[in-house]
Amino acid sequence: MGQSDTAVTSIISSSAGCIIKDKGGVSERGDIMNQHTRFNLPICLAVEEDAFFHSDEIIKRYIPDIIGQKAVIVSEEFLIGIYKEKINDISSDFGGAEIIAMKNASFDEAVAIAKKVCIEDIKVIIGIGGGRVLDTAKYAAHISKAVYICMPTSLSNDSLASPFSVLETSGKTRKTISCKIPTAIIVDTNMIINAPEGQTLSGIGDTIAKHTALFDWKLSAARSSERIDDFAYALSRMSYDSVYHCDEKNMKSRVFIRILSRALVMGGLAMEIAGSSRPCSGSEHLFAHAIEEFYTDIKISHGIAVALGSIPACIFQGQDPAGLINFFNTHGLDISPVSYGITKDMFADIWDKARTVRPGRITILDDTAADRTMLDEIYDRMVEKK
Ligand SMILES: [Zn+2]
Repeated sequence: MGQSDTAVTSIISSSAGCIIKDKGGVSERGDIMNQHTRFNLPICLAVEEDAFFHSDEIIKRYIPDIIGQKAVIVSEEFLIGIYKEKINDISSDFGGAEIIAMKNASFDEAVAIAKKVCIEDIKVIIGIGGGRVLDTAKYAAHISKAVYICMPTSLSNDSLASPFSVLETSGKTRKTISCKIPTAIIVDTNMIINAPEGQTLSGIGDTIAKHTALFDWKLSAARSSERIDDFAYALSRMSYDSVYHCDEKNMKSRVFIRILSRALVMGGLAMEIAGSSRPCSGSEHLFAHAIEEFYTDIKISHGIAVALGSIPACIFQGQDPAGLINFFNTHGLDISPVSYGITKDMFADIWDKARTVRPGRITILDDTAADRTMLDEIYDRMVEKK
């Protein structure tokens, strides 16, 4: 293919679930294409009531090629106990697929599953569980090049459809590693409605954090050669808007669960299109990463930690956090650091460390000279939730 022909090449292959857009060189119209973009999109995003009970019909509808292929199910011991009937049903739909009980969401465990998949000629990995299970299954599918079907039992963060897996590497140290996104995402709204409320709140927190993440992305683009991908930006903004402005406030309603499911998936796809986590991760995520790395005793989920981080980040950015605080109060997402055992000293130290956890990532923290008095005032405001 000649240089002029390669200006824009789009290949859409429904069987592979792959959309590739290559941009490079100068087109016949003279447009200068200086970006190289390559991304995948899932073939299927089914958000349905009792979807787990008719997952075989959904898969037949979207990816009939994989029916009859050898598959393996990755889940967790306690989930296999709770959802025995559903998981056994899905296993029999795939000719008695082996069910693996994942233990610690580690890099080694993901690689071991990938090794088994390659050696035993398994073509499909089905992940059934929360973030840890799905990250492990996603990475195993990435290495083994298997088709990956993602079936969440809770909506705790946007890693559902993101091109990253967070895995333990050595000890408790967790690393974010690039990987491919799922081929199919099947969300059973009944399953999510019955998930622990804290998990859904965490998913809400991860979605609302896009507000400050997008501000930081723009700031970074203004200061560096980084370019904002408009579609990734729009997807992430829409993800945030759909939840923030949602009229339905009942987290146990099907309407809300459908909106949150799609919002989290859109966040993941925004990262896939941008080729980085920037559309969904800014200074509020640096706060959460600092907790994950330096305060491992603090028991707080990722989405709640970024929700907490989004209030100070908003203030550092010169934005009024009142809207976010109201939103979190309305949904019962507790933003008081005290509730998670975070003292004023720890709060100040976490923000100090947040500046160091992702060197080279430009955020509002580069401009913020928040002194102890300011941080103490923000802390008090968060404790009072106003
Ligand atoms: Zn996140």
